[in-house]
Amino acid sequence: MEEPQEPCVVRTTCPYCGVGCGLLAEVDPGGQAIVRGDPDHPANFGRLCSKGAALAETIGLDGRLLHPEIDGREAGWDEALDLVAARFSETIAEHGPDSVAFYVSGQLLTEDYYVANKLMKGFIGSANIDTNSRLCMASAVAGHRRAFGSDTVPGTYRDLELADLIVLTGSNLAWCHPVLYQRIAEAKEARPQMRVVLIDPRRTMTADIADMHLPIRADGDVALFSGLLAFLAEHDRFDSSYVEAHTTGLDETLTAARTLGLEAIAEGTGLSVESLAAFYRLFADTQKVVTVYSQGVNQSSLGTAKVNAIINCHLATGRIGKPGMGPFSVTGQPNAMGGREVGGLANALAAHMEIENPGHRDLVQRFWRSPVVADRPGLKAVDMFRAVGDGRIKALWIMATNPVDSMPEADLVEEAIRNCPFLVVSDVVRETDTVRHACVKLPAAAWGEKDGTTTNSERRISRQRPFLTAPGAARPDWWIICEVAKCMGFAHAFAYRSAAEIFAEHAALSAFENDGARAFDIGALARVDQQSFDRMQPFQWPQPKGGTPSETRFFSTGGFYTSDRKARILPVCPKPTLRTDAAYPVVLNTGRVRDHWHTMTRTAKSPRLSQHLAEPFAEIHPADARRFGVAEADIVRVSTARSSILVRALLSARQLPGTVFVPMHWTDQFAARARVDTLVPALTDRHSGQPASKHVPVSIERFAAAKFGFAVLRERPRTITAAYWALARCEGGWRLELALAEGDRDSLAFATSLFDTASGVETLSYHDVAAGRHRFACFDGDRLVGALFLASEPVAVSRDWACEQLLSEHTGQRGRMAVIAGRPGFGVVDRGATVCSCFGVGANQIAAAVSEGCMSVEGIGETLGAGTNCGSCRAEIRTIINEHRLQAAE
Ligand code: SF4
Repeated sequence: MEEPQEPCVVRTTCPYCGVGCGLLAEVDPGGQAIVRGDPDHPANFGRLCSKGAALAETIGLDGRLLHPEIDGREAGWDEALDLVAARFSETIAEHGPDSVAFYVSGQLLTEDYYVANKLMKGFIGSANIDTNSRLCMASAVAGHRRAFGSDTVPGTYRDLELADLIVLTGSNLAWCHPVLYQRIAEAKEARPQMRVVLIDPRRTMTADIADMHLPIRADGDVALFSGLLAFLAEHDRFDSSYVEAHTTGLDETLTAARTLGLEAIAEGTGLSVESLAAFYRLFADTQKVVTVYSQGVNQSSLGTAKVNAIINCHLATGRIGKPGMGPFSVTGQPNAMGGREVGGLANALAAHMEIENPGHRDLVQRFWRSPVVADRPGLKAVDMFRAVGDGRIKALWIMATNPVDSMPEADLVEEAIRNCPFLVVSDVVRETDTVRHACVKLPAAAWGEKDGTTTNSERRISRQRPFLTAPGAARPDWWIICEVAKCMGFAHAFAYRSAAEIFAEHAALSAFENDGARAFDIGALARVDQQSFDRMQPFQWPQPKGGTPSETRFFSTGGFYTSDRKARILPVCPKPTLRTDAAYPVVLNTGRVRDHWHTMTRTAKSPRLSQHLAEPFAEIHPADARRFGVAEADIVRVSTARSSILVRALLSARQLPGTVFVPMHWTDQFAARARVDTLVPALTDRHSGQPASKHVPVSIERFAAAKFGFAVLRERPRTITAAYWALARCEGGWRLELALAEGDRDSLAFATSLFDTASGVETLSYHDVAAGRHRFACFDGDRLVGALFLASEPVAVSRDWACEQLLSEHTGQRGRMAVIAGRPGFGVVDRGATVCSCFGVGANQIAAAVSEGCMSVEGIGETLGAGTNCGSCRAEIRTIINEHRLQAAE
């Protein structure tokens, strides 16, 4: 990788979540990348979370796909592009345009997305292009379109600071959108009268700033917000002039909502009548309300109904599009919104136009001068992979995503793509659970090398700019797609020389014959050239021709994008469609952890991000743990009729009894069997096609481990033959959690299989056969090659300390024996589990500081530094302080 000769600070954006934080990136004279928050970016004003702050640690070349590959051999671009184009063209000629598909990603930049959509819908003539954003926010899109007539987020991030009440529903902002959480936390600190309500089955870290937590039953949201609508009517809180002038459908919606009494809502939501009434009163009495929702709402078979139930309450009260008021969908991915703008979903056209609308199809076809335009929606993600599985789709191109891990019924998806006659994958990573099945692998440029734009959750378009040279033969996604299009015979329509040219065309299409009938209009940028593209500042859409950048909101005075310009208040059905039974009595909820992203292809490269939660886990309420005979740190099997996974048990009263939480991140690259989406059924919302990833009936049973283990290793082991294992990077090597089944290798054979014990490596071991404890440590001179600790119960070894031993010198016998002991010697502090990733501060250190009288997050920051950089751990610090306070009071 070549670094720029002169240090040069580049303004760019974070590639992780939909907050879309601005970054300043540079490569210092020593070749070291430095990334920090951009104080001038309106999304974050300099703030970052732990993931953003560790970006520089994730850009190394290990594991990168650097050259095209065909059937496992390195190939040149010409050969690879010709092959892809020929196989797609032949398949289309023989079986028609719907026999091919693209599955793309919210990680792509808008320009990549634009040309992929243009090629599929305008030149191949099929709408079989869908995106992993289908799994993230398709229900929000469907809800917006049903209510507003357009996929438009009405408000801005500023509204989160201006509101007097923020309702967070299905949204763990503290971990999933940490900078928004920080903005709300700071606003609340400045205005303590601001109220925050958290609606979530789990008492997540976001509860840290909540005045009220409603631990709602899975999919109870429709009943909750229907009841709120009825309450608002009963207490005369509707804005009748707004309703009269700008909406339709209130009467029938209200009639439907009134059929549910408070008792029935309590039953449907699992909440007490008192807490329902308290929430309803607070909402009714507060004019400035923002309701924030994300995956907890969207990832449901009732996702669209939930979105409309929320929007109904805001429309009926006229609390929309005004400072501090409105429903607010927060997207998971960095460019889910950009994908929506270019029509990256199978049921949309470019520039927010509708595929079912003949006028829109005609307009797009004339603009593109394309031979055809798809005239009906294509297959949404779940249906697309079904069609791959049953042979209807014969050529599939997956770009920048990992469906073998992220799609529901993930084992079936793997089988489908394994048997697909022609699978192409463009990615930056050489080995993922998806890439390994590709006939053709195409090396894509990564974040830091790419040039283009993304749109964040508040409709703000920002530049992603390169500050590194793309390594090897890696190329931008837009270039790869355009070259394939040229080889397919569409050279005239894909002759772009830069991302700037594509963006200009995208902007021009948004304005083409747009007389205000379409919300998405960035016509002011239609003539952007390379220089102005390079200088482009973050701006919110709309930005029509002649407009000047400003903060924008929608719908405070109506102006919806329906035929009569009125919003639709829609009746919704509160009935959940999945229920537990005796065989599968627990509701599984999947989601994210603080320091990992998606399937860990980036974040697992960072040792410090890997320390916070280093293995896959199931968070279980202690009462359920008793019910299923599970103890803290046991390994548990979580099963459906279709599949099962093995994960570590974490007992937590934050979990609602009868529910279990398992994170979505772990793949076969980092664990033995922890792909949680193998458990999720392909049940989708009927409007949005979004899968229900948070309401899966499962069983839980203790896995009878014959031995538990923990190891640190300098090199990643080639094979691990344990029933349960989970691998994570640490400074100087790897850490490995283990559980062996009865019949797995004996301890010595296992240790030998794990370490590369070349000649000259000295092995120390300790065995307490009666207690079932075995310990091994291998040294190459003064350096630790690896250490393995096995026991009949979960291994009590100080993890962070053991990892540090990989970096230490071990000269004397005493120090080597300390490694075997598995804990620091006298007078050395065991930090405990990592809480603050930025400064490597552990739970034991924070607890010790609290015991010595440090009773505030600020005090912990002054004493230990924890929480003073990105701030992502501040909620956990506060939790530790509160737990100690409670213990002291008992
Ligand atoms: Fe990136 Fe964190 Fe900002 Fe999201 S909140 S964009 S992950 S820095």
